[in-house]
Amino acid sequence: MQQIYVNMYIRNKVWYNVPVEAGLEKLILDREGNGTSMEHYYQPEIECASREQIRAWQDERLVKTVKRVYENVEFYKKKMDEKGIRPEDIRSADDLCKLPFLTKDDLRDAYPYGLLARPLSDCVRIQSTSGTTGRRVVAFYTQNDIDLWEDCCARAIAAAGGTTEDVVHVCYGYGLFTGGPGLNGGSHKIGSLTLPMSSGNTERQIQFMCDLGSTILCCTPSYAAYLAESVWERGLQNQIKLKAGIFGAEAWTEEMRRDIEEKLGIKAYDIYGLTEISGPGVSFECSAQTGMHINEDHFIAEVIDPKTGEVLPDGEKGELVFTSITKEAFPLIRYRTRDICILSHEKCSCGRTHVKMTKPLGRSDDMLIVKGVNVFPSQIETVLLNQGYPANYQIIVGRKNNSDTIEVQVEMTQEMFSDNAGVVAEREKKLVDALKAMLGIYVKVSLVNPKTIARSEGKAVRVIDQRNLYQN
Ligand SMILES: [Zn+2]
Repeated sequence: MQQIYVNMYIRNKVWYNVPVEAGLEKLILDREGNGTSMEHYYQPEIECASREQIRAWQDERLVKTVKRVYENVEFYKKKMDEKGIRPEDIRSADDLCKLPFLTKDDLRDAYPYGLLARPLSDCVRIQSTSGTTGRRVVAFYTQNDIDLWEDCCARAIAAAGGTTEDVVHVCYGYGLFTGGPGLNGGSHKIGSLTLPMSSGNTERQIQFMCDLGSTILCCTPSYAAYLAESVWERGLQNQIKLKAGIFGAEAWTEEMRRDIEEKLGIKAYDIYGLTEISGPGVSFECSAQTGMHINEDHFIAEVIDPKTGEVLPDGEKGELVFTSITKEAFPLIRYRTRDICILSHEKCSCGRTHVKMTKPLGRSDDMLIVKGVNVFPSQIETVLLNQGYPANYQIIVGRKNNSDTIEVQVEMTQEMFSDNAGVVAEREKKLVDALKAMLGIYVKVSLVNPKTIARSEGKAVRVIDQRNLYQN
């Protein structure tokens, strides 16, 4: 049996055994009274609220949000009228499934002001998606929206151990991209010293990391892997003081996590979010590292069957759908993320009570269909990392004589590079077999020299589809 005590730290003064509602940190003690783990919270009264309380917040906020969008946004009114749904039909979160879905195409069609629920004069910020797969989506924020978004990011930083003593090194992009501004704001809320590095200029990133003693790194996992590699190349691994990393905005595997953790000597935490919903911090990982807690006081999550739209129970894999229930300027109702996930309400060892989601197991728009088989780039990455290859690879899909071809180019490590041609051919064969076992199809493998695949300072380009099957 574990006993739970709460210690409160304010400017280095410590009070022991204060009630959990007032605590900023929780020390879980074993029977002998020894601390076994330390969990930090930013808003413990919300993050550890009872399920009944969370449900009550959701019911009340959903009803208000639906009424407000029906009255203020022509788009929602029209969609609800078409389905014959009136705002008063939505009396609790149980009624959410009656409402129509919203898709990325809807958001593009509504560009720029079609989904705005407040007058422009109430808005203070615009952020935007990268627009890599079509027309950009712009999202609007009131000051209150920014505040709540930054709270969510602060929860993620606290969960990674962030305090006023930390130096938070943000090398997500700033500007229209939400990564930089979101984590920057969250870090301010915690009271950490914030380094708004933005992306790029790896030399300067490493210099500041060493000189200014960065302790928490925020960036994409592929850039974290690149930074780790660069730190080791310069022999600076003992000069850095990093203890944690918050990595998101692209898919990464457990193998990649272990690799980054080992090289940088940190604990690596996942974070999830999307610009349409607010930005990073929609959900975040805790010390358990077994899924990301969704901030359910702001977002209601559902998992649906992507074909039928039917809501699936806990533990089933499907498309993640979000409804924002506190957003003022740009509330989204049942937004289909196209991320494939599983939800879990199982009790978490960290003490948080909000539902957990798995990291996206694939994205419906990332999913490749090759020779009729569903292929997720993350599956290929898992095979490569399991076999000791670095996460520097590219997947090239083509079409020859009306039949799909797929090739994986992967960099060898320096040690492999020195092997003779026979050994390299053997290595390729081993990878071909492992990929066939994972995917069920033949994948051509080409081992290439170290450092030949272009590095990325933002989202890595993993897939090159030369088939031009989709116009977008
Ligand atoms: Zn947890």
